[in-house]
Amino acid sequence: MIFLFIYMLVGCSKSDIQETQVNEPPNPGFSTLTPEIRNAIQETEIEIQTRTPEPEKKANDPGLPEYSLNVKFDYSKQSALVNETIKYVNNSKQILNNIRLATDTLRYPGSLSLENVLVNSNEGNFEVGKYYFTLLLKEGLAPGEKVEIQIEYLLSIPPLPPPADDLKPGIYGYSTVQTNLVDWYPFIPPLSENGEWLLHDPWFYGEYLVYDLANFFVEIELINAPINTTIATSSIPASQVENLYVYSLSGARNFAWSLSPSYVIETKEFNGIKISTHTFPFHQQAGSHVLEESTKAIELYSRLFSPYPRENLTIVEADFLDGMEYDGLFFLSRGFYNLFDYTPQNYLTAITVHETAHQWWYASIANDQALEPWLDEALCTYSEILFFEEYYPELVDWWWEYRVNYYQPQGFINKSIYEYQGFVPYRNATYLQGAKFLQSLRDELGDKIFFDFLKEYTASQKDKISTQTYFFELLQNYSEIDFYNSSNYFYK
Ligand SMILES: [Zn+2]
Repeated sequence: MIFLFIYMLVGCSKSDIQETQVNEPPNPGFSTLTPEIRNAIQETEIEIQTRTPEPEKKANDPGLPEYSLNVKFDYSKQSALVNETIKYVNNSKQILNNIRLATDTLRYPGSLSLENVLVNSNEGNFEVGKYYFTLLLKEGLAPGEKVEIQIEYLLSIPPLPPPADDLKPGIYGYSTVQTNLVDWYPFIPPLSENGEWLLHDPWFYGEYLVYDLANFFVEIELINAPINTTIATSSIPASQVENLYVYSLSGARNFAWSLSPSYVIETKEFNGIKISTHTFPFHQQAGSHVLEESTKAIELYSRLFSPYPRENLTIVEADFLDGMEYDGLFFLSRGFYNLFDYTPQNYLTAITVHETAHQWWYASIANDQALEPWLDEALCTYSEILFFEEYYPELVDWWWEYRVNYYQPQGFINKSIYEYQGFVPYRNATYLQGAKFLQSLRDELGDKIFFDFLKEYTASQKDKISTQTYFFELLQNYSEIDFYNSSNYFYK
């Protein structure tokens, strides 16, 4: 009955809610994918390389890439004229003959019009790909050398697509109630140890981008916007004068924003951290619940993992069927708000704290989301049960039953997004089997050692892009057991 109820509430749109699946979608697995997608999955041979940990990186490092984004956003046209300046230092040990710019907006036909590209004030020579472009440098960029890239472009924001069975919901786009700008500017991906750009192919589910830390200066001028339009962003505005908003965000993975004339904003402060929810008017009480539970999660995870790594957290109700994390901001589908029943026993609570946990596992401690997606997703899913144990111990059994066991999860945890045969097997393995693995690890180590390990993992990987290799290397300091090789959870 509960699942029928959930299905009736959420299932009115045909897709499922990706981060969580409150209902099984009508076409959940590989067998029901379109032939094109199935072929693409079958034909893809991805060489998986496990990355070694990268050197020490600090949020206040002067060598971090710097993005200045000057935006004129015309609400009536749903378009943005952007002047972007990137200051980038070659921190690798080799000469760079080209610079790759991950440009997710290229995946939306007609959305991006490049007007002008300058490299050190000279006209840039570049090649455009399907989801990136490559700047060809006449003279290579030597180690330690700096380059300034200016890009002028027009973004025509696409409408948010209707839910589709095989594809992850679109996030970049607008609807009648909101406009979302995520991965909306070209950015330089990290370099791998062997000097290759860490930019993988987009996929039908899961995330494919890997983010370096960077500093952001963003100016947004809103034009022709309805009265009462507000902006939710990854950071707090440094200043706002009429329709001009200025933001500065240091040592972050990305800068996302969303605007709407309808947001009801509620804020809370905890230990100097500003938490805000941006909710549609008809979901105000659910929005207050989200704010309350997210704040409690911040309190708990700060204690269990490391102090909250950001100054703020912005929560945005999403007009699409997905929950999605960004640095300092996350989206939470309206589908979860619909499920709110004035109790904590629902997916709204679980996914709120899951997304909150991504500020540790994703933002502060990043990972290669395409090749090692379990590293953040397993830890975030397990963070959900840590929350229920602390605040609602009577719901622990419910969580394991409805969030995990109901789906009878199986599959190896540690495959790349390209190797699972559809979203559901991917989620069952990386999220759900991932949570079961972490519980088995905790059972084996005992609480004290398990949480000591998590604390050291967090502290030592802060601001870095962590790896599975490092996770298990560190674990060796806490136990004689070779968890990787002795466990059935991992594909070797
Ligand atoms: Zn997640």
